[in-house]
Amino acid sequence: MNGDEAGASETLGARVAILGGGQLGRMLGLAARALGLDVIFVDPAADSPAAAVGVHLACDYLEASHNSQVTEARVATFEFENVPVEALQALEAKLPVWPSSRALLVAQDRLHEKTCFRSLGIGTAPFEAVSSWAELCAALERIGLPAVLKTRRFGYDGKGQAVLRSVAEAKLAFDRLAPAQLILEGFVPFERELSIIAVRSSRGELACYPLVENHHSGGILKKTLAPAPETSAALQAQAQAHVEKLLAHLSYVGVLTLELFQVGDELLANEIAPRVHNSGHWTIEGACVSQFENHLRAILGLPLGSTAALSPCAMLNLVGGAPDPRAVLAVPDAHLHWYGKQPRAGRKVGHVTVRAPDAATLAERVAVLESVLAPAWR
Ligand code: AMP
Repeated sequence: MNGDEAGASETLGARVAILGGGQLGRMLGLAARALGLDVIFVDPAADSPAAAVGVHLACDYLEASHNSQVTEARVATFEFENVPVEALQALEAKLPVWPSSRALLVAQDRLHEKTCFRSLGIGTAPFEAVSSWAELCAALERIGLPAVLKTRRFGYDGKGQAVLRSVAEAKLAFDRLAPAQLILEGFVPFERELSIIAVRSSRGELACYPLVENHHSGGILKKTLAPAPETSAALQAQAQAHVEKLLAHLSYVGVLTLELFQVGDELLANEIAPRVHNSGHWTIEGACVSQFENHLRAILGLPLGSTAALSPCAMLNLVGGAPDPRAVLAVPDAHLHWYGKQPRAGRKVGHVTVRAPDAATLAERVAVLESVLAPAWR
């Protein structure tokens, strides 16, 4: 056997350690199983959705580096953005960890993220760090109203932020969000929200999925259209140029998601997610190779798979409750994914992907699905 053949056979049955055991971990685990990989999840929650598809260690993330089942894995990764950076750093001393703790450090703090965009010449809303009421007043003078005040860390699904239309609203929002470290951003009058998912392997191979269009409700992703309708080659090229700069700057390995606002012909970066992403769930049935499989291929140094879309496609999140599965599956080419979570208001419990041969048929199928899912959404 030459070196490459030895490396290839070692990959079969290799163990991948994943920090976080939510639905993203579950879908990574399903892709890992298909590739013949063995997966171990670290998640303090006893009822982690990923436990159904791999070994689950119900312990603190910081304990992972002391567990031989984890440290003897071929590679470690994470599916939860708020894992402590220290947990990754401790693992990095023992085995390859992708994406790196450095990438996570940037992604966990909106100020670092936006500073990184700015340093790379990637357009973004005007922004300033804010840590007192006086600093907020000064920043409002420069940025103007309307604006958006956000916590720098631990925000998700629209939580930890407020739109400010007046100084009175600014005071209320500041009192609610402080003493957390904050960032003030100019309000972007965007036409639509897009995201692009890119993947880079530990051998330096790189691929990008098509831009997708995202629709939110109450701060939670409700629907993704893939590829984003009416998207020019120039817009796709602009998004790819942005995300490729980020991958290179961060020496990134794995899947990276860049969330964007479209304003005219310009794309402004909002945030990055250093992981597989909800706006990429459509890739399971809608792309040649899914984001989950490509993430695993990337961190294991395997050849990446094609990121091309197979047809127009939509992903609808199931939030809060369960729909009637018969009504969902009666729609042609609809696929139901249920995460095995206890339904409760505002909680993502599954998603539906639907494909169609053309945009008009897709719109019809999405309309039927939206009426089926609406009663369960809460
Ligand atoms: P985020 O947590 O940064 O993804 O923000 C959640 C949602 O708030 C985004 O998907 C946008 O719809 C909206 N949003 C965030 N930042 C801005 C901004 N600077 N201008 C306008 N809308 C924003």
